[in-house]
Amino acid sequence: MPRYDFRCRSCGATFELNRPMAQANDPATCPDGHPDTVKLLSTVAVTGAAASAPAPSGGGGGGCCGGGCCG
Ligand SMILES: [Zn+2]
Repeated sequence: MPRYDFRCRSCGATFELNRPMAQANDPATCPDGHPDTVKLLSTVAVTGAAASAPAPSGGGGGGCCGGGCCG
């Protein structure tokens, strides 16, 4: 049974509930009885997207041709 994290907007408490997925979106009540709660997203590992830098194309720069030195 999945576990859902909730946070109470009245007192700021966070609590967990084990409930069927069918009831995932049902309102939850704070352990202190506050009905104003929000469901938190499950803990997900958020890592920066390691964008693969494009390999620099060979050639260009450093060549002797183009500067008139080759001939
Ligand atoms: Zn509360």
